[in-house]
Amino acid sequence: MRQHSLYEGVVSENGPVLLPTFAGLSQFSAVDYPGHLCAVLYTQGCPCRCRYCHNPSLQQGRGPSVMSWPSIMEWLATRKGLLDAVAFCGGEPTVHKSLLLAMRQVRTLGFKVALHTSGLYPYNFANMLPFLDWVGFDVKAPFARYLDVTRVPGSGCKVKESLERMLFSKVAYEIRTTVHNAILNSADLVTMARDLQNIGVSRWVLQRFNKAGCADLELVASYAPIDDDLVDRLRVYVPNILVR
Ligand code: SF4
Repeated sequence: MRQHSLYEGVVSENGPVLLPTFAGLSQFSAVDYPGHLCAVLYTQGCPCRCRYCHNPSLQQGRGPSVMSWPSIMEWLATRKGLLDAVAFCGGEPTVHKSLLLAMRQVRTLGFKVALHTSGLYPYNFANMLPFLDWVGFDVKAPFARYLDVTRVPGSGCKVKESLERMLFSKVAYEIRTTVHNAILNSADLVTMARDLQNIGVSRWVLQRFNKAGCADLELVASYAPIDDDLVDRLRVYVPNILVR
């Protein structure tokens, strides 16, 4: 690994462009894009400070890069026919406007493109949407309570805007929420279910809190799984709910 700046230069058809560097590469995943085999690239940097984050090392804006972008492209070229797609994760990938160029280059190799995002950057996200085949979209809280979870002022409005843009685009997606009883109570979840129904979402994944990598020991100690009765109440608003 080498330490260097957050961005590195590549030459596009329009001249030199600075791409984000990548903090991690998983060469094979069967779970980051449903029904597809993909490589996963992890970007560095996220403005949120969610207590349940299991990748806190990716929150800071700078960190080690596993490979240069040309090396990643060279490696991806050897994976043609073996992988279906490349998934971009973080951190928060959409903090990097120039990630769009990486997505376009990946498509030239014939791969589909998946994105995992918390939707905090609606403008950057909207520009990426035409180049995406699937989006894993985190809805973290009732929009009015976002600050409590992300610690980013105004994040609820931005996420709502991204969500509306994504639904309008007709891209394939999954909406998911990490459920921890110390962060979201039953009233919060009912509010979210109503919000999602109003916005046109019919399928919702409730993710059990995963203690792996979580630095908040209080959260780890206080976790109690969501009960089935509450899930049934949420299904009144969003019929298709999966708990995993
Ligand atoms: S948005 Fe994701 S990467 Fe950022 S702090 Fe929250 S859980 Fe971690």
